[in-house]
Amino acid sequence: MPHVITQSCCNDGSCVFACPVNCIHPSPDEPGYASAEMLYIDPVACVDCGACVSACPVGAIVPDNKLDLKQLPFVEINASFYPDRPVDEKLPPTSKLAPVLPAAEVRARREPLTVAIVGSGPAAMYAADELLVQSNVRVNVFEKLPTPYGLVRAGVAPDHQHTKRVTELFDRVAGHRRFQFYLNVEVGKHLSHAELLDHHHAVLYAVGAPDDRRLDIDGMGLPGTGTATELVAWINGHPEYADLPVDLSHERVVIIGNGNVALDVARVLTADPDDLARTDIADHALKAFRKSAVREVVIAARRGPAHSAFTLPELVGLTGSADVVLDPDDHQRVVEDLNSVSDPLTAQKLQILSTLGDGSTPASRPRIRLAYGLTPERVLGERRAAAVEFSVTGTVETRAIDAGLVLTSIGYRGKPIRDLPFDEAAAVVPNDGGRVVEPGTGQPVRGAYVAGWIKRGPTGFIGTNKSCSLQTVQALVADFNAGVLTDRAALAKPAALDELVAARQPAVVDATGWRAIDAAEVARGNEDGRPRNKFTDVADMLVVAADARPARSRAPRMRDRLARLWA
Ligand code: NAP
Repeated sequence: MPHVITQSCCNDGSCVFACPVNCIHPSPDEPGYASAEMLYIDPVACVDCGACVSACPVGAIVPDNKLDLKQLPFVEINASFYPDRPVDEKLPPTSKLAPVLPAAEVRARREPLTVAIVGSGPAAMYAADELLVQSNVRVNVFEKLPTPYGLVRAGVAPDHQHTKRVTELFDRVAGHRRFQFYLNVEVGKHLSHAELLDHHHAVLYAVGAPDDRRLDIDGMGLPGTGTATELVAWINGHPEYADLPVDLSHERVVIIGNGNVALDVARVLTADPDDLARTDIADHALKAFRKSAVREVVIAARRGPAHSAFTLPELVGLTGSADVVLDPDDHQRVVEDLNSVSDPLTAQKLQILSTLGDGSTPASRPRIRLAYGLTPERVLGERRAAAVEFSVTGTVETRAIDAGLVLTSIGYRGKPIRDLPFDEAAAVVPNDGGRVVEPGTGQPVRGAYVAGWIKRGPTGFIGTNKSCSLQTVQALVADFNAGVLTDRAALAKPAALDELVAARQPAVVDATGWRAIDAAEVARGNEDGRPRNKFTDVADMLVVAADARPARSRAPRMRDRLARLWA
């Protein structure tokens, strides 16, 4: 009765470290890990001990006799990663009781290593976790919003609640006594890089890739055009996107690009609002979906089925929960690709595509059409988007698809960080294994480090950041041990940092404030049988956070606001 890894696998590899018989691959130190769509349990070598189940932060591992119907395809997906061999031949067990990569060891010094982390998404929280393994490290996390956890809160689709369970791990990290949150504080606005370095040995930026890659074709920019990532932020109640104008009055939406973000958006746009009402979707989005006229979402890819950017686990999840079809021409493309593909996981993707309907039967619910070989040329429409014109890739033939909402979903893009070098072409901060370097000379910029998407570009999954952040922390700690970082015998006391932050941003939110916001959102949600009902206005979050602070430490303006609110 082996265990099976299922759709919500986050690739963080905690299961690999927990497994006593080395039956989960690829492990973070193996080739192929960086591009793996998920991790796989070898059904022959698994001894069914369940250690991986406890270690997995997102509940993705299930004994094979407890799988639900939708999870059954993962039995074969796990097994097909491993070469065929006699059932009694096991892979050589190696001890994985210790981490594959050893934790960075801080050499004993008089003062603790003090690190500022900018951003509070997965890369930031995994870096904090890794640093706090040591007894003589302090971590301060600075985040521009009053709420932490970045894309886990604002990017993961609301119907993927399993994936969001990783926040339980992050809450544990944030509860560490040498960890401090400075939320609602923007580095570059309230505090400069130099000021952070006055108070810390090192500053580690884990700010992600907050912009979208833009598609430069005529008509993008018309009302009715936008990006899938903006829509995801709106769906998830990100305060900066709460007022996004989203018009769902037309029966068709076209999404350009077929990565996992496109799948997330298409799935949510075609979902039953009553199902979404049991998630933490933003109220404004749920209200709009209840009135939506959308009957079809077309996901248009410029290349063929074998080059689909979505991953196999997400395709399995999509076809298990939505009505997904392909035109007959695209079915033909799938057959052709199946005849030439050698990679077994791509072959499985194609197999699934080949079983889908061709859309000839009437739809009883909104459906998703996967379309291939379509290069976007322009958005048509006078005052607002009315259709997208594509060329059939590699030909002069054109094809227009009517749509009232046109979303590009062609990837994220990092943006420059004030006072650090930036590689415009790759849209990352130039770095060597996480050490920020000057692009001309390759010389490290003392005290500056990066992790996550701003380090390696927008690829991989939540858990991919664990090993990415670990590599950065190894470099940072090695520099500290080598005495390369400024020796801060006179490093300002923690109280001095608190005073500076309070002077620049009186409405700073600490861990207590975040816990109050979190509890209030959960309580609001539970009233309606939902996991949480998010605040989408920063002012509301700040009122709740301020209410949790001792009265004397509240900023005068906040005291007034609270008094007015409760009057
Ligand atoms: P992505 O996976 O990089 O997909 C980008 C898509 O845009 C591809 O189909 C690409 O096609 C297309 N594209 C790029 N430039 C284009 C152009 N000029 N014209 C037309 N199409 C173009 O990006 P993503 O969906 O934003 O995902 C980002 C990362 O987040 C990925 O690693 C993804 O797996 C991850 N993610 C994971 C989940 C999950 O696990 N549930 C959810 C969301 C995101 P070509 O291949 O032809 O370039």
